[in-house]
Amino acid sequence: MDLLSMQADKNAPKLIKRNFLGEEINLIEFHPAYEKLLNHAVDSKMFAIKWEDDLRARFAGEIHKLGFASGFLYAQAEMVIYCPLCMTDGAARLIDGYCEEEDRGRLIPRIATLNPDELFTGAMFLTEKSVGSDVGANLVTASHEKDKNYRLNGEKRFCSNANIIFVLARTAEVPQGTKGLSLFLVEKSLPDGSSNYKNIVRLKDKLGVRSMASAEIILTDTIGKRVGEKGEGFK
Ligand SMILES: Cc1cc2nc3c(=O)[nH]c(=O)nc-3n(C[C@H](O)[C@H](O)[C@H](O)COP(=O)(O)OP(=O)(O)OC[C@H]3O[C@@H](n4cnc5c(N)ncnc54)[C@H](O)[C@@H]3O)c2cc1C
Repeated sequence: MDLLSMQADKNAPKLIKRNFLGEEINLIEFHPAYEKLLNHAVDSKMFAIKWEDDLRARFAGEIHKLGFASGFLYAQAEMVIYCPLCMTDGAARLIDGYCEEEDRGRLIPRIATLNPDELFTGAMFLTEKSVGSDVGANLVTASHEKDKNYRLNGEKRFCSNANIIFVLARTAEVPQGTKGLSLFLVEKSLPDGSSNYKNIVRLKDKLGVRSMASAEIILTDTIGKRVGEKGEGFK
């Protein structure tokens, strides 16, 4: 893993905005070393032990110790990918505790999988242009569409490339500050296979953690499903 880690660090991901026909594709291309490191994470079973039903039952009471012990060993060689891996685990916890049964049944197996090709990674889009530590100053808006579905608009920063994303956004009728924020489940692809968030402006040129893609994204009518009560997203 050490060699792969160094290769991934020296070969940062690239954003390919358009294909050769000029069509917008917003593809993020990772070095093969990055993909191999991701495969090692799946092989280590750091997610399976925590989220695969049979293993959870068999090791009940020990799953956090085993999952994080595996992560601790992994991070001795590769600290960068361990960041999105931890966020994937955090996303699984939110899905498990707060999402609808249909979403849980569909998404948790993609995190618990032992097949690297099937893995869904998770992320949180909280940070905005002028909103880092002060999350209550968040500006991205959420307008109600139908049932629990909302349309999200505005710019997010430090967005890790992921399939399952939890986004904080502000609905119109609630107070300012963190009390006004709701949480939304955003999936990279819509049920018809089309992309749910399209406009990746650029990847950040960072001093460290370079093998990971941290994007600036303009959400434009991105569909998000509210998780939990309105205005309770920060909690
Ligand atoms: C590698 C990397 C990955 C990231 N991944 C994600 C991600 O996946 N999702 C996501 O949403 N965000 C992500 N972030 C963003 C991260 O959450 C923010 O960087 C963090 O919240 C800090 O915000 P900021 O960088 O705007 O710093 P600021 O909030 O501008 O803070 C700058 C400095 O001012 C200090 N400061 C801030 N407010 C105060 C105050 N009121 N009083 C005194 N001092 C203060 C801070 O301690 C800090 O030293 C990532 C960042 C990095 C570097």
